[in-house]
Amino acid sequence: MSEFDYRGPVKLVVFDWAGTTVDFGCFAPVAPFIQVYADSGIEVTMEQARGPMGMHKKDHIRVLGQLPEVGQQWQLIHNRPFVEDDVDELYQRLLQPEVTQAIAEASGLIPGMIEAAKRLRKRGVKIGATTGYFRDAAKGVVDRAARKGYAPDISLCVDDVPTGRPAPWAMFAIMRELDVYPPSAVVKVGDTVPDIGEGRNAGAWTVGITRTGNDVGLTQEQLASLSDAERKQRIDAAGKNLLAAAHRLAAYIYKETPVDPEIPYLLLTPGPLTTSRTVKEVMLSDFCTWDNDYNDIVTDIRQRLVKLATASDDYTSVLMQGSGTFSVEATIGSVIPPAGKILIVNNGAYGNRMVQIARRLNIDCVELKLPEVRPADIEKIATALAADNSITHVGMVHCETSTGMLNPAEEVGKLTREHGRVYILDAMSSFGGIPMTMESTGADFLVSSANKCIQGVPGFGFVIGKRSLLEDSKGWARSLSLDLYDQWWEMESKHGKWRYTSPTHVVRAFARALDELDSEGGVAVRYERYRENHRRLVAGYEQLGFRPLLPAEWRSPIITSFLYPEDPSFTFDTFYAAMKKRRFVLYPGKVSDADTFRVGTIGHVYPEDIDELVAATAAAVEELNLKIAAA
Ligand SMILES: *Cc1c(COP(=O)(O)O)cnc(C)c1O
Repeated sequence: MSEFDYRGPVKLVVFDWAGTTVDFGCFAPVAPFIQVYADSGIEVTMEQARGPMGMHKKDHIRVLGQLPEVGQQWQLIHNRPFVEDDVDELYQRLLQPEVTQAIAEASGLIPGMIEAAKRLRKRGVKIGATTGYFRDAAKGVVDRAARKGYAPDISLCVDDVPTGRPAPWAMFAIMRELDVYPPSAVVKVGDTVPDIGEGRNAGAWTVGITRTGNDVGLTQEQLASLSDAERKQRIDAAGKNLLAAAHRLAAYIYKETPVDPEIPYLLLTPGPLTTSRTVKEVMLSDFCTWDNDYNDIVTDIRQRLVKLATASDDYTSVLMQGSGTFSVEATIGSVIPPAGKILIVNNGAYGNRMVQIARRLNIDCVELKLPEVRPADIEKIATALAADNSITHVGMVHCETSTGMLNPAEEVGKLTREHGRVYILDAMSSFGGIPMTMESTGADFLVSSANKCIQGVPGFGFVIGKRSLLEDSKGWARSLSLDLYDQWWEMESKHGKWRYTSPTHVVRAFARALDELDSEGGVAVRYERYRENHRRLVAGYEQLGFRPLLPAEWRSPIITSFLYPEDPSFTFDTFYAAMKKRRFVLYPGKVSDADTFRVGTIGHVYPEDIDELVAATAAAVEELNLKIAAA
């Protein structure tokens, strides 16, 4: 794992005070603003006073004074505009002991806060707090909370930092004081946008609190007295406002604990899979498709894909919008002539999908149905080919992602070539992760997609194919949008242009993913990492008592199927939830006659992650009280 790509547990949660941990509805800071303006003869409404909540209180006063309604009243009563000296004067009044005392008194703990803090401590998570309150008010609130049983390790207020929210300085000071880094190990929890902004600007994860916060602005009793529809409407409105800034929302501190924000979990599912932060970051900007900047990227990707698969000039590549299946369908639907016939080897769900595609497109198809838990039987394929001279094409899946089975792609390629047939290989989940070439596999068309071993995000697939065969296929496609030839010709003749809107963000992320494949050391090095992931997974899971579906010699390093344990209390749903809570997302099984679940080992996932996975699984097994220990 890259040190800049932290994905470990949360180490520190920094809470806001009013509206988040104390002062249900966030009232305490509102009244003083209304009061100091009222003392100057100006009427400020509750709603106006709540507007800038979360800011430094002095900034808050200034923003209120700059409201047109307030400015007009000021002009009328004081015969001059509201100026910076007025901000100072009103702020001084806010600092009076009566005001700070009133704030502290109105700052009761929000129900559940003590339990939330306890649960964090139990997990070794540190607790910090920041507030927009000035020092005296903050002190009153902090002391009162401590007397009631909630005491963060450190609490900073605006007077402790050079500039208040949304500047991140209080967050950084807390992280420094508690020696916690990187920022992605930190969660900021608050109920206002400036509050979330403080977390964002510090590079932390952020959780917006709706129900008890300033944006809903009701006491517990007021909220309870609303109809369900009204309550929902107010909470949703607050959520909409906050979600523009925050990563996640929680209605309430304890029930939907920010300790378990589902961020950032590890996808152990082969597509979509875990991608690097840098691949995701590329997608933060929009990109036009009309000029060479973009089309150069597409052209470059096409060339690099061919280079990954062969050194020969006889091959070319096509990118196709959609998920991987779209590219399989585009290939089957386009490269088989009207009178052609395809033999499809089916020993799993993806082989089965190829059969479905051929039948749906009315393509003459011979299905060779073989057992799911054995590699494709070469003898049977040979017999089927020998028996039927009218078969023009052979289709097979390389790694059957449904079981994790690695089929003998090379032997089938050799056989297909000997018989003079065209070979379509679905290498969706293996290309880029297992060394292979067009020559070694014998594939005439090799299909894969962006979100598998190249470690991009979902959105398009690609086909690497023999140029002469593709040229022959002009006019054969059974579909307009999935016409492989037309798509290829557009890209070929118009320098990387796609027919129809292209997935620009995905394409650029894919280019970045190809760079990262290179910098990792290429496919051979990636393959070793996947193998090590797989080795540690199987060793760790066997130690816990889980049994892989397949024997070692047939397994791929891509994904592994495990049999359900015999304990009758095991259900995939509860196991899945217990693992997701621990930040690992597993995959349900896809085998017809065995109960299995699957764990993918491809993507931006490293052997240390797998060690953590095994430890998390042991904890989940214990929590669920599963009896699976090996005899
Ligand atoms: C992922 C995958 C596909 C394509 O599935 P989509 O859901 O369409 O992306 C096809 N074949 C295999 C072997 C796969 O692993």
